[in-house]
Amino acid sequence: RGSTSRFAPAPTGYLHLGHVANALLVWGIARECAGRVLLRIEYHDSTRCKPAYESAILEDLDWLGFVPDAVVPRQSSRTDRYEQALAALDAAALVYPCACSRRDISREVPDVFGEEMRYTGRCRTRSVAPDATLARRVRMDDGVETFTDALLGPQRQSPADQCGDLLVRDTRGLWTYQFAVTVDDMDQGIDLVIRGEDLLDSTGRQLRLARLLGRTTPPQFLHHPLLRNADGSKLSKSAGDTGVRELRAAGHGADEVRALAARLAGIQL
Ligand code: GLU
Repeated sequence: RGSTSRFAPAPTGYLHLGHVANALLVWGIARECAGRVLLRIEYHDSTRCKPAYESAILEDLDWLGFVPDAVVPRQSSRTDRYEQALAALDAAALVYPCACSRRDISREVPDVFGEEMRYTGRCRTRSVAPDATLARRVRMDDGVETFTDALLGPQRQSPADQCGDLLVRDTRGLWTYQFAVTVDDMDQGIDLVIRGEDLLDSTGRQLRLARLLGRTTPPQFLHHPLLRNADGSKLSKSAGDTGVRELRAAGHGADEVRALAARLAGIQL
């Protein structure tokens, strides 16, 4: 059926077993349905991403035998496009500047992978002069986003209740994960997103944002379980973070590393 999927690691660290499990599913499913896999380096937070991690990730992927059909531009080279997308939302009166301090924001909008707190919309109504700050938010009005996850079934999410108005560019001028990923998935024709369950809560807001940006057909989503021990218990942070580099250095072959990741992910090869 020719889906287009993507493998999208952030170069904030080395490739670990969790990435390998995700890659097995992305490439495996693409192979099953005559799909393509794009490799996208999610280089949007220049304070945490490092070129050295990027090259290590590319090298480890190659060693593991995961070959993408194409490599799409890194997010750090797409800032003009993000500006343009933001301007389009702004023209539709969906954007407002946010002057909440770093501390307010870090309390209300922690890392996407962490515990979530809803932004209260403080700046939505207090009319901040646009150049008083670099931060921008997109309105997440009330309403439910529904989608059918390929593994988890029907889902309902309400971005207004979960995260509130979405930060798209922070006070440092950095584009957020949510915004960069949504614009990229749309522009790159991604119609199948295969990722870990830790990102399930991001999907409703990404669907909403995509629609506001003019995307007419949303992608299909598949959120897979994170790595577990054989007995189902949660993998310790350190085991889940075991780096492909470390396993390589310890003498394990690519097949073994793939098999280990598959086992921990509950994938039968
Ligand atoms: N870049 C994210 C990560 O490294 C994945 C983003 C996504 O799949 O939407 O976990």
